[in-house]
Amino acid sequence: MKTLGIFGGTFDPVHIGHLRTAVELREHLGLDEMHLMPSARPPHREQPGVSAEHRLAMLRLAIDGEKQCDSLIRDGLLADDRELRREGLSYTVETLAQLRDELGGEVALCLCIGMDSLVNLHTWQRWQELTDYAHIVVAARPGWHVPETGPVAQWLAGRYTDAPQLLSTSPSGRVLVDAMTLLPVSATQIRENLATGHSVRYLVPDAVIEYIHQNGLYKQENT
Ligand code: ATP
Repeated sequence: MKTLGIFGGTFDPVHIGHLRTAVELREHLGLDEMHLMPSARPPHREQPGVSAEHRLAMLRLAIDGEKQCDSLIRDGLLADDRELRREGLSYTVETLAQLRDELGGEVALCLCIGMDSLVNLHTWQRWQELTDYAHIVVAARPGWHVPETGPVAQWLAGRYTDAPQLLSTSPSGRVLVDAMTLLPVSATQIRENLATGHSVRYLVPDAVIEYIHQNGLYKQENT
């Protein structure tokens, strides 16, 4: 079965931690495509200071380096703008339902999230429906553990698997926990560096740095 991954985030801005994780997940899970999907209006955090259009443009540059094509796939990575084309808060369950509607039942969808998100999954809109549309792949993060009690723990039982190859045998319904390299980089740190005039070279692709400077993003007054 064709398999498609979704890696969501604010990407404010995109950095090598996001990109490296997306590449590793794609290889490890054997995904045909990995969609990096900026959240236009994230429901669970302060709204980003930089517009969704700028964040998407930076993501496209990060994937391609120079050009900014609308539907470019490079190394299996793709910048997916569907949450920018919707009004209101960017609820993941709505995105997955829309994707499932478009793709039909013969494609496996893998929603990739961090362990910090799994632990708080019960705060997401219609969270129990997420696995109706997709598998969930959880990136293990130091300091975070699979919940053993509470609503998410109960829901996990029966869905949990440790076999990546199982994901391509059904379109949705399973939860896999996967260990991967987590580079010690955060967008928060990058915004701080930029606001205080410090370098972000090698943390963010060069084309993205150029875009940030050309557009005057993340200066003190914009953060
Ligand atoms: P911020 O510092 O603004 O909270 P962030 O760097 O955590 O941002 P997000 O855009 O919020 O980035 O994260 C998108 C996704 O990328 C999330 O699933 C998050 O767990 C993951 N992620 C963030 N930083 C890293 C990293 N260094 N390595 C791997 N994954 C990361």
